[in-house]
Amino acid sequence: MTATNGAGAAGAASASEKPCACPCGAPITGRGPTGMCKPCATRAARKVQLAKPGAIEKLREQGRRTGARNIRLAHTPEGKAKAAAANAQRMAWCPTEYRDLNSTLRRKGFGLAERQDMIRAEAAKAARA
Ligand SMILES: [Zn+2]
Repeated sequence: MTATNGAGAAGAASASEKPCACPCGAPITGRGPTGMCKPCATRAARKVQLAKPGAIEKLREQGRRTGARNIRLAHTPEGKAKAAAANAQRMAWCPTEYRDLNSTLRRKGFGLAERQDMIRAEAAKAARA
């Protein structure tokens, strides 16, 4: 299984499970449940977020307070803590000393399962040494 590479195996595996392309025509990478490419999924999530009552008014108020370019300064400590907790939960599989390696591998285009295999192998090797 580790010798498989490229689109051949991935295409064959996903063809029967979910559509290969977003309605916009872009290929879908990863295992997202939305059936959309990442830009479309992000846009759709943003649309849902802004449809909540008061969401646009809250953004406008934050923009008036901090300026549009500094909107991130409006993030509250509670919001930041919530995001950090969600991130910690999402990254619980990866030991902290391998987070940089994980980022590097992700930028190089390795999928989650591949990165998990590699990092677990690295950690096991380090534990034996
Ligand atoms: Zn799309």
